[in-house]
Amino acid sequence: MEMFNKYCFIGCEDTFNESEIVLFGAPFDGTCTFRPGSRFGPYKMRIDSYGLETYSPYFNRDLLDYKIHDAGDLDLAFGNPLAVMESIRKFTNEIVFKNKKPLMIGGEHLVTLPVVEALYEKYNNLVLLHFDAHTDLRDEFMGESLSHSTVIKKIWNFLGDNRIYQFGIRSGLKEEFLWADKGHTFINKFSYDKLSDIVKKIKDKPVYVTIDLDILDPSVFPGTGTPEPGGILFSDMIEILKTIDLLNMVGADIVELAPDYDPTGVSTAVASKTLRELMLVMCESKI
Ligand code: MN
Ligand code: MN
Repeated sequence: MEMFNKYCFIGCEDTFNESEIVLFGAPFDGTCTFRPGSRFGPYKMRIDSYGLETYSPYFNRDLLDYKIHDAGDLDLAFGNPLAVMESIRKFTNEIVFKNKKPLMIGGEHLVTLPVVEALYEKYNNLVLLHFDAHTDLRDEFMGESLSHSTVIKKIWNFLGDNRIYQFGIRSGLKEEFLWADKGHTFINKFSYDKLSDIVKKIKDKPVYVTIDLDILDPSVFPGTGTPEPGGILFSDMIEILKTIDLLNMVGADIVELAPDYDPTGVSTAVASKTLRELMLVMCESKI
């Protein structure tokens, strides 16, 4: 697989073979409907990570105590979403085949689809935890069925009912909410107050976690393609990660940082720090 971007996220310098977690970037924003730019997310998050420490006071864990490999970014065929999906699926398969856990940095939210597809081949009882401002349950957007606004519906097509839990949701078509309410997905509107109940329910299942950073309020995180007022704070993000700590997390991603919309750099700092904490949660979760 062709990779580029040899900057490495802080504390992720172990080799592929010795690592349990493989971090990689999928810098694709080709179906973005409003403001593109998330292709620059993985690069900027790595650079910014050197402003962080490897130690997290939130979890009392240190990245240096774990084996993590940063594989760089996938070299993707821009303009061809199908080929992009195929490249991401293939690389995730290589990781999963070696009994390692994929941790992906997007890119727009569509890049989650091939990673979940690859994991579903191994874990057919997979459960998805989805954190986002948006439902992402459309069937198509302007005739395109492969889009960041259809990604969760695409995943439902193979996972099916009672396997997808959505939190922080505050935007979507009325039809999407009505469809979810028919028992297809669980939507926790505006907040994550039902998360701890759900965690008890799914604690023995393999779990995939996808974090669309626009779940955060634009005052905390303006650097994203579709900012949506009314979101959560960074302290809520930590609360979420503490609640899902020790689940059987088999893979995760963090998507939709479009760094150039925030010239202060704060959004990138928020994204990098969220990724560090997510990584430390994943390091302690057992398959
Ligand atoms: Mn999304
Ligand atoms: Mn979103």
